[in-house]
Amino acid sequence: MAFEVMEKDLLGRIGRLTTKTGVVETPMLLPVVNPLVQPLTPKTMEIDFDCQAIIANAYLLKKNFGEEVTARGIHDFLGFNRVVMTDSGAYQILVYGDVDVNPMEITQFQEDIGSDIAVILDVPTGWNVPREKAKYTVEETLRRARLTLQSLTRNDILWVGPIQGGNHLDFVAHSAVSIGEMGFQICALGSPTQVMERYLFSVLVDMVLTAKQNTPFEKPLHLFGAGHPFMLSFAVAMGCDLFDSAAYALYARQDKYMTDYGTSRLRIMEYFPCSCDVCRKYTPKDLREMPSRERERLLARHNLSTIFSEIRRIKQAIREGRLWELLELRGRSHPSLLDALKRLQGYRRFLEVHSPSSKGRGVFFFDATGLARPAVLRHQIKLFKWQPPRDYRVLVFLPPSTSKPFHRSREVKRILRSVEDAIEDVDPIHFCVYAAPFGVVPLELDDVYPLSQFEASFPLDAETKDYVIDQVRTYILSGNHGCTSVVLHAEDDAFGEQLIRECEDACSKKGLLFLTSEVTEKTWSKRPVESLVSRISSALKNVNVKDE
Ligand SMILES: [Zn+2]
Repeated sequence: MAFEVMEKDLLGRIGRLTTKTGVVETPMLLPVVNPLVQPLTPKTMEIDFDCQAIIANAYLLKKNFGEEVTARGIHDFLGFNRVVMTDSGAYQILVYGDVDVNPMEITQFQEDIGSDIAVILDVPTGWNVPREKAKYTVEETLRRARLTLQSLTRNDILWVGPIQGGNHLDFVAHSAVSIGEMGFQICALGSPTQVMERYLFSVLVDMVLTAKQNTPFEKPLHLFGAGHPFMLSFAVAMGCDLFDSAAYALYARQDKYMTDYGTSRLRIMEYFPCSCDVCRKYTPKDLREMPSRERERLLARHNLSTIFSEIRRIKQAIREGRLWELLELRGRSHPSLLDALKRLQGYRRFLEVHSPSSKGRGVFFFDATGLARPAVLRHQIKLFKWQPPRDYRVLVFLPPSTSKPFHRSREVKRILRSVEDAIEDVDPIHFCVYAAPFGVVPLELDDVYPLSQFEASFPLDAETKDYVIDQVRTYILSGNHGCTSVVLHAEDDAFGEQLIRECEDACSKKGLLFLTSEVTEKTWSKRPVESLVSRISSALKNVNVKDE
């Protein structure tokens, strides 16, 4: 296998990709170099940025320097001794219509110049094209893919199979299945550039995850044209391992300054929020006063170092199991990225299946977008399969205590003690806590990671409240046959009121007795606790307090 996964978090992974020139660590961004226009030379990238790999356009190389590159080999020609990937020129097709080269010539050329990673000459679908045209691009790309693989004369190059279909997700799925079955070492999602330029990140989520769901999980996935640091964490979290981009240079030419949360314009900047060698040495004003070539070079340096530091931040987040928290942070840098975060909800099942189970780190829950994280669904599934204590007759719901694990908190211990003091046989009582984001947490389980290792922000938003209530309802409705009553210790607020109404409704559907303790502002103080104990006692006797 050319690709070995070392660490995982969500669908993101730190991997080692072996090429004929060397091993590179993913996730990795390959900066696009163009020998005709280059603010930063490949040598600079290697020495100053410790860049592991770069990418050049085979079509432009062939057109402008064909014989020289073939004679010297791509590494010597570019002056870069590490891994070199070549793209076929498909992007030029997207922009200029057609290119005057046939697919087999480009394949042959990439073999001749000794690329480490090479891409077939595919036909990019582009954004929002009619179905007929999208279909053609998919079928023609597949036809070329088969031809290319048949015509290869060396076996030490990693070949990339591009998935097309654009925003026609059924075509993306079909294309992904077909490309995944062929002998490519790397799969790639084509033509997302226009989607990203339009900030349609939720569409990107659909495209990437459709591709990911339909390709072999163990193969690396390349995302073409992704190079803005503020969205890379999303791409990695969705299972993309490789990226290529010229954005660092294109932005620099337009006096655009990249940050990990967006783009600034040099024209209006007074301070640099960065400590790279450029930003330490110069002010925005210094750069504005420079000749444009020099300014472009320095901005390209800053942009590239911002991209690389974001990649390191993503890798560290994967190691710590905190990639979701990074998405929450980046999701707040632009509303369209928040759209993307919200869109992940639709793929929570797929995320749950493929995410590693635990890194032991605490879960930070901010708002309803966090309900999509795998730990939440995992608990829901686990709870569904879990066998509650046998023969419980009374189900008691408590609000979350201030400390965790709940069963060891001062508040819950006090309740348990009071119950034991007042009631002889406590075995038929089953205690659960209703708490965001996990919904229902039986006290028997609250030691299990991460049910005690989380912090939630209060007050909860409406969607999260609905989720918790829904989980409580489901737990009541799917409960033990022997259960006769439900006792709720609710808090004195709108959420408490809503919870009472919904529990009452679920109980009446199931024919259970429903009792609530006295609701006051001080949930854990003496009176409400006494009232709770008395309700539990009534429930055990299956007597409605109103009848007593
Ligand atoms: Zn900087």
